[in-house]
Amino acid sequence: MPTYRHLFFDLDKTIYDFDASSRMTFEEIHEHFHLAEKGILDLDLLIERYTHINLRLWELYRNGGILKEVLNVSRFDLALQEFGINDGGLAVAIASYYVTESPLKNTLFPGVETTLTYLKKKYRLYIITNGFEEVQHKKLNINNLRPYFDDVITSEEAGCKKPDPAIFHHALHRTGAQKEESLMIGDDLVVDIQGAREAGIDQVFVNYGKVIHSEPVTFEVDSFPGLCSIL
Ligand SMILES: [Mg+2]
Repeated sequence: MPTYRHLFFDLDKTIYDFDASSRMTFEEIHEHFHLAEKGILDLDLLIERYTHINLRLWELYRNGGILKEVLNVSRFDLALQEFGINDGGLAVAIASYYVTESPLKNTLFPGVETTLTYLKKKYRLYIITNGFEEVQHKKLNINNLRPYFDDVITSEEAGCKKPDPAIFHHALHRTGAQKEESLMIGDDLVVDIQGAREAGIDQVFVNYGKVIHSEPVTFEVDSFPGLCSIL
């Protein structure tokens, strides 16, 4: 096994339980914006429709097809429209509430802090994220994660997004890490794993859902503390 010295982590859905924080925020939105009175009785259905739309728009955003401001509002606008609500002003207000409130939730996956404490003693740790710059920094600060990481590389600052190998090259250059000594740790087989592989970096697939796949990953774990058995 190569001697790794630099660990690059994805944030959302790898360290930060994005789905849990998103759900909590949706519960608040449902109440705060009186969505039941507007005809949205089934919160699960709203989240399901939103998630579907959000995934599609994020892919467009990643590929440079839409701007972040459009992504942020359109995902709510289109989800509301599926319930017969055509109210652009409401979509703007909900979008603003969501990006303000969702990063403020303390929702880390089990064992994240103890595992990072262990890893921090042996490796240099970094974040590489496609999330919005101000949102990701808020998440790191609220959850007291910032001290674990030597640097945080965001796609907005890098000018390119995972899985583009350019962002991994940028991260290596910025941190002074050699690719042979580096490991990318993430939950997404394309964005994190395939991207890192194409940049010549070994990977750990954090497979919380235990999905069956045929990607040639370097390592795989199904929990965050599972990293301690590899590293
Ligand atoms: Mg992720």
